[in-house]
Amino acid sequence: MRLREIILRSEIKYLKYKIYNIFKYFISRKFSFTKLAYLPLKMDIEPTTGCNFRCTMCAVSSPGYITKNMKMDVFKKNN
Ligand code: SF4
Repeated sequence: MRLREIILRSEIKYLKYKIYNIFKYFISRKFSFTKLAYLPLKMDIEPTTGCNFRCTMCAVSSPGYITKNMKMDVFKKNN
């Protein structure tokens, strides 16, 4: 996701925090801080542990693997 999209998708009440966080991100990158001074700019949510592929190195391929799906109320908590 591009930074412009992050800003455009933000709720107005969080916009100043997100812009400040992006500012900290650029400062941290410019000066190569050893500790991250900013929060993650984006988050990927994996709502299921199921998969149709069966890659041999993956736990999904193991016998007895149980697929779980994220419940909608948990998903909404994270947004
Ligand atoms: S590594 Fe696992 S989750 Fe990823 S594609 Fe392969 S089987 Fe699916």
